[in-house]
Amino acid sequence: MSHVFPRHTKSVLPTVAGGDGCYLIDAEGKRYLDCGDAAVSCLGHSNPAVIKAVQEQVEKIAFAHTGFMTSEPAEALADLLIEHAPGDLDRVYFVSGGSEATEAAIKLARQYFLEMGQPERRRVIARRQSYHGNTLGALSAGGNEWRRAQFAPLLIEMSHIAPCYEYAEKPEGENSFDYGQRVANELEAEILRLGPETVMAFMAEPVVGATLGAVPAVEGYFKRIREICDQYGVLLILDEVMCGMGRTGHLFACDHDGVAPDILCIAKGLGAGYQPIGAMLCSGAIYDAISNGSGFFQHGHTYIGHPVATAAALAVVRELTGRDLPARAGVMGDKLNAALESAFGQHPNVGDIRGRGLFRGIELVADRDSKAPFDPALGLAGKIKKAAVAEGLICYPMSGTRDGRNGDHILLAPPFIIEDAQIGELAEKLSRAISASLPR
Ligand code: PMP
Repeated sequence: MSHVFPRHTKSVLPTVAGGDGCYLIDAEGKRYLDCGDAAVSCLGHSNPAVIKAVQEQVEKIAFAHTGFMTSEPAEALADLLIEHAPGDLDRVYFVSGGSEATEAAIKLARQYFLEMGQPERRRVIARRQSYHGNTLGALSAGGNEWRRAQFAPLLIEMSHIAPCYEYAEKPEGENSFDYGQRVANELEAEILRLGPETVMAFMAEPVVGATLGAVPAVEGYFKRIREICDQYGVLLILDEVMCGMGRTGHLFACDHDGVAPDILCIAKGLGAGYQPIGAMLCSGAIYDAISNGSGFFQHGHTYIGHPVATAAALAVVRELTGRDLPARAGVMGDKLNAALESAFGQHPNVGDIRGRGLFRGIELVADRDSKAPFDPALGLAGKIKKAAVAEGLICYPMSGTRDGRNGDHILLAPPFIIEDAQIGELAEKLSRAISASLPR
């Protein structure tokens, strides 16, 4: 009997025994094409440079508390990230994962306004159908009803405006740009409703991952969001935990929108799965406010700036930038999109195929014309996940796309080293998994 507390207590999982490029291998020797557990593996599972970096760092020194010492890999990684970061992001705060990054961002925004003598700024606005992590602060920011429901009494009150979700929410007859401006303007309306002097930050994902299934905002949306934040002195926090680190074809997803945040959260692809690591990047102005004020960010975890984790991430970012892998994600992403269009473009239950780079989503609908989702009681996403695993394909089907438990999508986020043949394999396996799962 296992003593591990699994995610689903009734499921029996294969045991992972190895990895080879884009494949995971279980203890029976079965190979699974890894097209996005949760968009972590950007370099595949056997990258020699990252493995070597981890081994060398463990041998040198595995841990020293950042309250006492910094480390070479942490310093070099921060330099490299800032060299490529958008806007005036100037400092990097390392954490161990995505929720820690968004949580730290919320606390940093709060402390920034305290240092600036604006203690009444305490509210965060985010969007409906969003996910920013599972710790209570991060879960409070997220607007996914199903994830929030049972913990709601413990959550901090936050406001949620509409997401920018063109396929499901743009009325026919409205053009994309106008739609984007209109939903962005909901931020302004909400800031005015709450009182600008009480709002500290707006948080959003440039390309929405888990909750919507690789949904990018329409052109102009984030530019308008940035304008509104600037007008009311509200900090813009972008959550690139899933869509960042090259996945969308740019090292940072917001580069596509031509918008730089005040605080940027990254994780997943930063460690590429070789080590658990996340980071929060902030502007020089925010850092200076704290540095010139109390001089102490009142936050911290034992493993921030962990030498082995930062050594792994340093090797990952060197691979990404040195081999121009975000550009490859862009090229292979176009090929993946073409393969998905050819496999599912005419499928009666595929309503939308979308995304950027190697971050793609397929939305499943009961009816293409009305875009009506399937009955949640069918548990379609769960069935597809199971059927895909049986086929030897790891992907990320999710329910709750539209709201609560309504709507199903499949998120695809393969490693950037994926080849043409594996894109074909992905489309074939996914096609069989979907066919086996749809109601007859
Ligand atoms: N933000 C986003 C956008 C995410 O997709 C996730 C994880 N799926 C998180 C935050 C939380 O990251 P973690 O699971 O590493 O805590």
